[in-house]
Amino acid sequence: MNESNTLTDTMHVPFVDLKAQYHSLKTEMDKAIFGVIEETEFIKGKYVSAFEKEFAAAYNMKHCIGVANGTDAIYIVLKMLGIGAGDEVITVANSWISSSETITQAGATPVFVDTEPDYFSIDINKIEEKISAKTKAIIPVHIYGQPAEMDKVNEICKKHNLFMIEDCSQAHFAKHNGITIGTLGIASTFSFYPGKNLGAYGDAGAVLTNDDALAEKVRMYANHGQLTKHQHKMEGINSRLDGLHAAVLSVKLPHIHKWNKLRLEKALYLTEKLKLIKGLETPKIRNGSTHIFHLYVVKTEKRDELQKFLKENNIETAIHYPTPLPLLECYKYLNHTESDFPVTAKNQKQILSLPIYPEITNEHMDYMASVIEKFFSIYPPL
Ligand SMILES: *Cc1c(COP(=O)(O)O)cnc(C)c1O
Repeated sequence: MNESNTLTDTMHVPFVDLKAQYHSLKTEMDKAIFGVIEETEFIKGKYVSAFEKEFAAAYNMKHCIGVANGTDAIYIVLKMLGIGAGDEVITVANSWISSSETITQAGATPVFVDTEPDYFSIDINKIEEKISAKTKAIIPVHIYGQPAEMDKVNEICKKHNLFMIEDCSQAHFAKHNGITIGTLGIASTFSFYPGKNLGAYGDAGAVLTNDDALAEKVRMYANHGQLTKHQHKMEGINSRLDGLHAAVLSVKLPHIHKWNKLRLEKALYLTEKLKLIKGLETPKIRNGSTHIFHLYVVKTEKRDELQKFLKENNIETAIHYPTPLPLLECYKYLNHTESDFPVTAKNQKQILSLPIYPEITNEHMDYMASVIEKFFSIYPPL
């Protein structure tokens, strides 16, 4: 601790605050959770069916299949589309590893595309050069809560006869050019990890699709290959949504639009405070897009120093993600270097996620802004 850098002893800004949301829904939430226990609807059952119906309806999609987590959601879709050994699947260099490890799990090979400098999503101009005769699908990721250009990715998919699978884990209900993300491709996948904009109280996930045959296969595979007990039409896995999580999600779902809007409002407030600070780049919102600010990601060349300074001043931050996916140790066999993904490699050294959540207060944000301002007055940009 460097005391001269500390502006206050009392203010603490956590990175996320899941407790505040629980307390705002406590009566209803406790009732729902105890209902599941009273009725012993632990696995599948009526709470799961109810949430699946509600989520599909909220999304105006035919089928929602609850699964154990957002990673399985991607894996199961790939597998049930028949993607496997000898196939390639394109995804993006800046994401959480679920976007690529699931491709390998299915038996295929991940092929990575560089990102756009300002929006951190897949660069649609660099996709086609990565398409080969082996390519079967593209997984765009709506990263940080901002839509990727899934309409343009979808056009590329149509042109080359590929599946588009949208990874919507960070962007529930975000919109791009009037279209809600997760509705354009053959299927879309969601995580309800507790810290996501719509979060359960443990691991949970879902698949959305309008394709009847795919929906049935996904439902079967996620439940040991059966639709009816003991009638295993195939071998599957055990990846089911628990009743407790479904009940929690049903309580939260009616609030998601309000929470997303609050996140956006808070983000705009914070940007207003930070935008004139030299040496810091605030998040940009793409024309025509609704950003739901799962994460508030700034860029600065003094990233590590700023993160340390914020920590000394009781402000928690994180880096999403410190290493481009293709440069992780597990992908060493692909022999990539930074020059293969110049934009992602550059961004990755500069990005920092600041606290953002619907309940964050103006006082928290004023405090963050004052600490950041102080940092750049002590360490001005070159
Ligand atoms: C969280 C996340 C996932 C996976 O979700 P889990 O529920 O944790 O398995 C997949 N992709 C992205 C982009 C995510 O952020």
